[in-house]
Amino acid sequence: MEIINTLLDAALKARKNSYCPYSGFAVGAAVMDDKGNIYSGCNVENAAYGDSVCAERVAMFEAVSEGASNLKYILVAGSPKGDAITDYAYPCGTCRQVMSELMDGDAVIYVAGPEGDIKEYTLEELLPHSFTLKE
Ligand code: ZN
Repeated sequence: MEIINTLLDAALKARKNSYCPYSGFAVGAAVMDDKGNIYSGCNVENAAYGDSVCAERVAMFEAVSEGASNLKYILVAGSPKGDAITDYAYPCGTCRQVMSELMDGDAVIYVAGPEGDIKEYTLEELLPHSFTLKE
């Protein structure tokens, strides 16, 4: 529970920096490695929509760029900008694929919902039979 609360705080803090003038949907994400280090990110959109990047990937890339490995947990929290979390913002397919590349096989994915509710998934549940070099 402490891990979840720590990740939720970091994700919500990052979410405040979301740059989402096109979708109006603000997302924050936070990753924890096996040493307990936290890395966070928000979605960053672009007028050329395809150049936008999701919060989950920003957080994972931040972790890698800081030298982290063995990413164990990620939490995602998203809703319309300015609102509290009103629904579950599940990772998109691209982020799930990046999770399968960068996160541990037994990684846990948390998705924040209304009123502090948190749903919990394994990578296998969100991306079964993934395309990966991992055994
Ligand atoms: Zn995504």
